[in-house]
Amino acid sequence: MKRILVTGGAGFIGSHLCKRLLAEGNEVICLDNYFTGSKRNIIDLLSNPYFELVRHDVTEPYYAEVDEIYNLACPASPVHYQYNPIKTIKTSVMGAINMLGLAKRVKAKILQASTSEVYGDPAVHPQPESYWGNVNPIGPRSCYDEGKRCAETLFMDYHTQNKVAIKIARIFNTYGPHMNIDDGRVVSNFIVQALQGKDLTIFGDGSQTRSFQYVDDLVAGLIALMQTDASVTGPMNLGNPTEFTMLQLAQTILELTGSSSKLVFQALPQDDPQQRRPDIGKARELLDGWEPQVGLKQGLQQSITYFENVLSAQ
Ligand code: NAD
Ligand code: UDP
Ligand code: UDP
Repeated sequence: MKRILVTGGAGFIGSHLCKRLLAEGNEVICLDNYFTGSKRNIIDLLSNPYFELVRHDVTEPYYAEVDEIYNLACPASPVHYQYNPIKTIKTSVMGAINMLGLAKRVKAKILQASTSEVYGDPAVHPQPESYWGNVNPIGPRSCYDEGKRCAETLFMDYHTQNKVAIKIARIFNTYGPHMNIDDGRVVSNFIVQALQGKDLTIFGDGSQTRSFQYVDDLVAGLIALMQTDASVTGPMNLGNPTEFTMLQLAQTILELTGSSSKLVFQALPQDDPQQRRPDIGKARELLDGWEPQVGLKQGLQQSITYFENVLSAQ
């Protein structure tokens, strides 16, 4: 039995990861400050004696004896990470330093939840790991993008200088149950708007693209990456390469919910990336059979069922 620390474990992705790691017979410490996460996401795990919940902020040192660390603590939705940008960059950078210091001390393997945002508004399409990106260092998204880029640098430097066993996952847009209804990202916004009969808010003309990955596929990829041998450090893209415009996403959600909501067009936020699609050749080669399994309609249907339940319980 391994003891595994998941920072940001009460968040959307973290809660699914904690559940899967417990189901595979591990002991899990879930660390979270509940900025965007909630106990509701992990309520089913609380009765498991191998699950431990710790209220803690990763910008402060933390001591525990663990075998593996998944470092997910960081708000991920633009609305939330731009609410307190200084705190966001501290969370990425100081959080990475503290968790790397912990990994170094106890000789744990550590995985960083990095992001496709390290590619910024990409001039290369689709994005391979070798692309260095096109990121504005002083814009509204910089606290997140540059924080995550600096965290990648720290991971590589702790690996080179201190021989810490690291894995860097570059996660592309992921969605599914346990997103907050007020998360602010596009999939949860559109589903909640459609279910409530409100207008779907398209930013810009809706021609910008994203490639959406269902959360179960990501969790399988993160665990597979953690299990690779020491020579595999990443960075490694984890995403579903099927690309959609925001208009296509809105139309698909209207169709699946049977909603008669209308589309309204609002201003495109500054520095909003125009296109995004992962090149997942590296993950396919190194993650032993890993491949996204869940198509957009199937994943949206699961998410719609989840949000219907959340809304009807309110
Ligand atoms: P989320 O906001 O649901 O989860 C983040 C969790 O981190 C929350 O539970 C939050 O309370 C916690 N947290 C935030 N600041 C903290 C701090 N200082 N100390 C302790 N806990 C803190 O978002 P998510 O979508 O689950 O994202 C999880 C991770 O994956 C993040 O690091 C994010 O950057 C990364 N990621 C997500 C996506 C995606 O599409 N969902 C894409 C790329 C990267
Ligand atoms: N740290 C931590 N838990 C540990 C070990 C270290 O939170 O179990 C923190 C520690 O407070 C330090 C950071 O990780 O600020 C980096 O640790 P490292 O040993 O790399 O650097 P140093 O202590 O020399 O600054
Ligand atoms: N978006 C939108 N309506 C919304 C929320 C987001 O049209 O209500 C757009 C947003 O401008 C971006 C895309 O959807 O082009 C994905 O946004 P999200 O915040 O989900 O993720 P990110 O921009 O970080 O990829």
